[in-house]
Amino acid sequence: MIKYDVAIIGSGPAGIIAAIFASKRGKSVILLEKNDNLGRKILATGNGRCNITNKNICISRYHGSNSDFISKVLNSFTEKQIIDFFESLGIFFKEEDNGRLFPRTNQASSVVDALHLELKENNITVKLGSLVKRVDKDNGWTLKLDNDSIILADKLILATGGKAAPQFGSSGDGLFWATKFGHKIIPTYPALVPIETNETWVKDIQGIKLEGTIKLIANGKDIVQKSGDILFTHFGVSGPAVMGISREISPCLKENIPAEIIIDPIPEETLKLLDQKIENIFVLNGAKNVKNTLSGIIPLNLIPLILKNAGIVSDKKAAQISKKERNLIVENIKNIKLTVKRLRPLKEAQVTAGGVDTNEIDPLTMGSKIVPNLYFAGEIMDVDGDSGGFNLQWAWSSGYIAGNNI
Ligand SMILES: Cc1cc2nc3c(=O)[nH]c(=O)nc-3n(C[C@H](O)[C@H](O)[C@H](O)COP(=O)(O)OP(=O)(O)OC[C@H]3O[C@@H](n4cnc5c(N)ncnc54)[C@H](O)[C@@H]3O)c2cc1C
Repeated sequence: MIKYDVAIIGSGPAGIIAAIFASKRGKSVILLEKNDNLGRKILATGNGRCNITNKNICISRYHGSNSDFISKVLNSFTEKQIIDFFESLGIFFKEEDNGRLFPRTNQASSVVDALHLELKENNITVKLGSLVKRVDKDNGWTLKLDNDSIILADKLILATGGKAAPQFGSSGDGLFWATKFGHKIIPTYPALVPIETNETWVKDIQGIKLEGTIKLIANGKDIVQKSGDILFTHFGVSGPAVMGISREISPCLKENIPAEIIIDPIPEETLKLLDQKIENIFVLNGAKNVKNTLSGIIPLNLIPLILKNAGIVSDKKAAQISKKERNLIVENIKNIKLTVKRLRPLKEAQVTAGGVDTNEIDPLTMGSKIVPNLYFAGEIMDVDGDSGGFNLQWAWSSGYIAGNNI
């Protein structure tokens, strides 16, 4: 039976890049993947366009209990290096807002195809449709697959992802094995996930998208604020800005702290300026129903809610609105309040917060400090990033270090 130098479980971005660089260092490598296709989650990233990385990678966009570890890993294999690597494979990049970098083709499949070819070029044994059922350690590693075949290897890289979006394969198996071999797991919970609200009126305006700010308030304190697209859905709110604040909600829910969110669809206007502008609109359109005068400021379907919250009947004429009523309208436009019921399930999350405790991993090699010849790469660790290419960069950086230093 062949014994490989390195076995890697998981053909996500972390496992693939680890395989390529371990092989470039002369190791015999086997990459095991339970799905029938390679990099299934990569294909779903960036709405099928794959936000490969971000031009502005910095530690403040990452979360986890050991920021020194995260910094060291990101600095050892940077966004510039992953861009160079993909360019060497023939991938062109295009930059979008906030430094987000996508393949010029706008197709995540270009990224997976290029990686697939590179795996072949480097003679890496890739076994798709191979669920690893059991992992044992003796002199080396023994992996048992679901068809009962056995794989032997000197070194093992766990690149099985976290628990988010298990429909793409990441069901937490690696976390189970890490625990089995003595690693501590920082409790996991969904991050970058939509939010369910107690208010059911959201259903009436589902499909409406705003570009504004969303702020999380817990125990009366401002916790976090993000700006970007906010989408109303049948259960609550979704979209990049919403996902961006979701990470901070789990701890509140765990401790039964009521969490409130405030949406401002026009953050660029102060209360005072917006009030002046609306006063002007009312003066010029005094004979019109107030609801018809506001449709250039906020989406039409939202206006009845704003007026209701301000206590104003929507067929009142603009000229009949008092200063106090106008102030209330402005207040309600800039402070759309929702209360958090719960987060949507892991199936709808883009990333897992928590994971293998990085205090037990060497950032220079990604090797376990506890178990010889065991390595980690990607989302399995207690590291998660903001939306915008930060999570894939984490997978590339940690995967590269594991493969290159094994
Ligand atoms: C819908 C969606 C969109 C996203 N968009 C972006 C984006 O645009 N940019 C960005 O930076 N991040 C994005 N992310 C996050 C990013 O995709 C992940 O953080 C990243 O894929 C993690 O890489 P990984 O290699 O650690 O794990 P994964 O990509 O989860 O790969 C783990 C692999 O291990 C395999 N596996 C698990 N257990 C076993 C087993 N027992 N045997 C064999 N194989 C096993 C799984 O099948 C899976 O293929 C998105 C996530 C989702 C869900």
